[in-house]
Amino acid sequence: MELLKERIRKDGVMKPGNVLKVDSFLNHQMDIELFNEMGKEFKRRFEGVKIDKILTIEAGIGIAAIVAQYFKCPVVFAKKSQSINLDGTMLSAPVESFTHKRKYEVIVASKFLHPDENVLVIDDFMANGCAAAGLCQIIEAAHANVAGIGIVIEKGFQHGGAMLRGRGYRVESLAIVDEMDPETQTIRFRED
Ligand code: 5GP
Repeated sequence: MELLKERIRKDGVMKPGNVLKVDSFLNHQMDIELFNEMGKEFKRRFEGVKIDKILTIEAGIGIAAIVAQYFKCPVVFAKKSQSINLDGTMLSAPVESFTHKRKYEVIVASKFLHPDENVLVIDDFMANGCAAAGLCQIIEAAHANVAGIGIVIEKGFQHGGAMLRGRGYRVESLAIVDEMDPETQTIRFRED
């Protein structure tokens, strides 16, 4: 998605440790006009695929909420910790955080994922694929179907995308970064 790539080139900051910071339009301040364009692009890429629900994790709520307007479906977000507001049967999966380098559980109340529902996973970044794999595990534990995985920025030099495509999931990433250099602040994208 050219508009997104241009924005990453303009405002993205590459940090040591393979981290791309895009907090001026995606991860802290959010550019809703750009989110709308991303929603249209995900809808175009998943045209003809039946999607009943979107599943994301807490950090992806903003993006998923805008994207869902194009799919006209509800959004469920996986919570990161048990709380007294979570009741009933829970589905959970372990996730190792790429940015915080720690393990946590993602939790979804089973009443919000039904057998045979077609669920689209949406997340902001894909690095090692742990977050997306955890969400897929939860969907399958609910006997629902993973309709696809929609990622805003995939770091193609990390192995998450290849691992999940290898498992047979359809992964659509709006921008795939193949190389980035924090010293020179240069970035190379995969051609669409
Ligand atoms: P994974 O589970 O694929 O290793 O990492 C994905 C999660 O880590 C995403 O949900 C995202 O929050 C975070 N993440 C991974 N890499 C980056 C990055 O380069 N920049 C930012 N801002 N977040 C990242």
